[in-house]
Amino acid sequence: MSSEFHHIPVLAKPLIAGLGEIVDRGFYLDCTVGGGGHSKLILEQAKAEGKNISLVAIDRDQMAIAAAQQNLIEYGDRVQFWHGNYCEYEPGAVKFAGIIADLGVSSAQIDLPERGFSFQAKGDLDMRMDRTEETTAADLINHAAEVELANIFYNYGEERLSRRIARAIVSQRPLHTTTELAQVIAKAVPGRYRHGRINPATRVFQALRIAVNRELESLETWLAKAPDWLAADGIIAVISFHSLEDRIVKHTFRQDDRLQVLTKKPIIAEAEEIAVNSRSRSAKLRLARRLVV
Ligand code: SAM
Repeated sequence: MSSEFHHIPVLAKPLIAGLGEIVDRGFYLDCTVGGGGHSKLILEQAKAEGKNISLVAIDRDQMAIAAAQQNLIEYGDRVQFWHGNYCEYEPGAVKFAGIIADLGVSSAQIDLPERGFSFQAKGDLDMRMDRTEETTAADLINHAAEVELANIFYNYGEERLSRRIARAIVSQRPLHTTTELAQVIAKAVPGRYRHGRINPATRVFQALRIAVNRELESLETWLAKAPDWLAADGIIAVISFHSLEDRIVKHTFRQDDRLQVLTKKPIIAEAEEIAVNSRSRSAKLRLARRLVV
């Protein structure tokens, strides 16, 4: 499974540096384990420093959990897996020396047409990260009111033509596949509104994905809880991929008196990283330290 799970961890160096010296016998929490790329780097760093750590790895996608289990197999029971939404995790009495979240979807999820995340390959309109959950993108596209769809595209995709696109979708539904939806969007967006080379479906697909997975609500709920899961001086590190997420992380860190913000400005990828991994172009890393309050 791990050999099929293509995903290069972004901002790996600054993330590991940001966690600071690994705490011996410390607990670490990866809230978005994906293929286990970042978790593996933390475990390798611990090994290099001669430290013994335990790591809890969360993902709401069973496919990601399976891939990470393979990828981290050599670490045995030092890694515990938890399937679910990170905002619903309950750590009990454990306090973590480091908590990381690398938000959004993985390349592996995008690359599988049947997951429905990409408008470039034909697949069902699914977009659920957790396939045990009920609502799919098709449910929203085919049953939501026109105004609701327009609001989703405007609020989560910052799409200025949200109403026009929502009207076109409603007039053409039912729609079943990613490519059908992309075609309806393309027809609804006249050439003069197309900026640069960005496919007009990009923002609508991002918005739908955020809505289907309630991504921003999950992030807000989690950010309210996670500082209490940290040990004194523990570090929380969040990598976001669009301005909506980054704004939430920045403001919540700033307003939280349990935290000391360590990144006044977000850490972004260097040109060398962007050259080998285009996903890193939009990545922003923010770090904060748990204060003793
Ligand atoms: N850091 C990982 C790596 O290096 O392989 C990649 C993480 S990928 C960008 C994001 C992962 O987070 C996806 O596998 C996705 O299913 C998961 N995810 C996103 N939101 C989540 C949430 N609210 N709860 C749990 N997992 C979530």
